Amino acid sequence: MIGWVKFNMKFEELRKQVVEIGIKMFNQGLTHSTSGNISCRIPNENKILITPSSVPYLDIKPKDILLVNMDGEPEEKGRNPSVETPFHIGIYKKRNDISGIVHSHSVYALAVAATKKTIPVFLDEIFSEIGGEIQVAKYNLPGSDELAEDVIKTLGDKNAVLLANHGAACCGKNLVEAFHVAETVEKICRVFILSSILGEVESLPEDGIEYQQMIYEMKKDF
Ligand SMILES: [Zn+2]
Repeated sequence: MIGWVKFNMKFEELRKQVVEIGIKMFNQGLTHSTSGNISCRIPNENKILITPSSVPYLDIKPKDILLVNMDGEPEEKGRNPSVETPFHIGIYKKRNDISGIVHSHSVYALAVAATKKTIPVFLDEIFSEIGGEIQVAKYNLPGSDELAEDVIKTLGDKNAVLLANHGAACCGKNLVEAFHVAETVEKICRVFILSSILGEVESLPEDGIEYQQMIYEMKKDF
């Protein structure tokens, strides 16, 4: 049984940030309608904040953001948390280095995710910002435990994963970084598609990959 916490706008600044990132995601075309979702870990608490289900991004207010525990249970009365809460929780449980997640439904990421093709390391940022080739988690029903399991497994120790026929899960040390990863994934997918029209993309040479890997590791420690 959940002990309901009286709503008092706890974590107001973080709630505002979730709302702002949602508006940016919508305005930059990284999602449409009410698709996708955004969450962040609350520092020093075993809880997260996550966007509500089925509310347009431009209408979401800080009070609509849900406080959810690590069992996925809301701790306040209010709206329903996003249906994809299980994969957000799963990532936070497995990856202590991640405190922000942006789940986008952007067009070019969707296009690549529909083909289930792995994106090789053919641009510097695929390693320096994502942590290596971008893989596609297999298709599962939205909100299912199977989807959560496969997203977490396919993400591994990287910052982004595509979800087959669905979208992208983009992670960062905080929400600002997670949003930047979402923008970067969309750019990478766009270039991948354009390059693939001209021919097969070529991966970076080994020394280039090693160099970008070093930058990725440095950024993680920073
Ligand atoms: Zn989705």
